[in-house]
Amino acid sequence: MNLLSVHEAQERILSHFKPVEAETLPLTVCAGRVLATDIISSDLPLFDNSSMDGFAVMAGDLVNATPASPLTLRVVADIPAGSAPDIILAHGQAARIMTGAPIPKGADAVLMVEDTDFHNRNAGTAAPATVKAFKSVKTGENIRTRGMDANAGQKILFTGSRLRAQDLGLLAMLGVSHLSVYRKPKAALLSSGDELMPVESQLKPGQIHDSNSYTLSALIAQAGCEVLSLGIAPDEKDAIQSLFDRAIAMQADLIISSAGVSVGALDYIKEVVESNGKLDFWRVNMRPGKPLAFGDYGGVPFMGLPGNPVSAFVGFEVFARPAIGQLAGLKTVTRTAVRVRLAEAIESDGRESYLRAIIEERTGTLFAKLTGHQGSGNLLSLVQANALLIVPAGVKSLPISGQADAWIL
Ligand code: AMP
Ligand code: MG
Repeated sequence: MNLLSVHEAQERILSHFKPVEAETLPLTVCAGRVLATDIISSDLPLFDNSSMDGFAVMAGDLVNATPASPLTLRVVADIPAGSAPDIILAHGQAARIMTGAPIPKGADAVLMVEDTDFHNRNAGTAAPATVKAFKSVKTGENIRTRGMDANAGQKILFTGSRLRAQDLGLLAMLGVSHLSVYRKPKAALLSSGDELMPVESQLKPGQIHDSNSYTLSALIAQAGCEVLSLGIAPDEKDAIQSLFDRAIAMQADLIISSAGVSVGALDYIKEVVESNGKLDFWRVNMRPGKPLAFGDYGGVPFMGLPGNPVSAFVGFEVFARPAIGQLAGLKTVTRTAVRVRLAEAIESDGRESYLRAIIEERTGTLFAKLTGHQGSGNLLSLVQANALLIVPAGVKSLPISGQADAWIL
């Protein structure tokens, strides 16, 4: 078996995933969903409106207004937000106006209430009959003009982007009440091994709690995917087979297992998968998590992550998260790394290494140090970490103060 680079393994995996179908949902449930359509804007804002509480005026009327010699205007209208003024302002006139209210015809600026003799901003206060202006205003001052934020026809959100809070707000501004988004993919998850017991169980000698189910379920959910929990498969062919069949019956888009893929491990998984599909065992030039199984069962992609808790986590981040991203319809599935400076010298073994690290900012620079021994069963070292430090393949040591990429966790 030859050694695959991390990149080669990722490419092979991603070639088996395409986006799931789209569905139309109310905007209220679309947070975190992936857009399945581009969004074209209408004019935003939709009408010229005031950005201040004050008085809509003709800028030309106030050219000579100063605190020492204020100019008096006649207030001919009161325009609260939500109203539609039908007046046309003439010279010498003003209209009291609230933030967000439409600019009346004839007006070309808004004088802030602070620059007048009328300071009462309480809702419900009647507008004054006249107002003294203590300042001049520029044409257009304090007016948000129609289309100044976005133009009709402008593409403002794109297929394949995950919807954030501000995106939803913008869609609501446009009056988009329903949206085409990709449905949530479903990942079936199982742990495998005779030593594994559910978290509620009293352990007998030699047994351990199944922790990977908890770590991986949370990661899958975080990646925007529904989790179909299949529980623990004992090292026994029929039991494994029935869990895989359950995944198919539940219409999983992806089956993820942990353990049972290391060389020497009893490979019941291989037997089961190959009875109804295809399975490749790869040795990936990475650490932790060299062994990786990938194939399909009944036409559903299957990913066998290593069993050691840290390896399962790193394997998920490196291989499963991008695959889920592609299923979910995300346009970009590669992760952005940050550049960090090393607070200690680091030894590696030439494999592409994902080391547990703590990143701290000191005077504008991010410094990384490791969280203790990097055994792939040492989950505490991952709990103490806030980043994975990436040492590239072929590099055996990095000096103190050297630089490296890191993924923030
Ligand atoms: P294996 O890949 O089956 O050789 O497992 C490698 C190591 O990971 C062994 O020490 C297993 O006990 C451990 N392991 C496997 N699955 C899990 C799991 N779901 N939770 C915690 N540890 C596990
Ligand atoms: Mg095992």
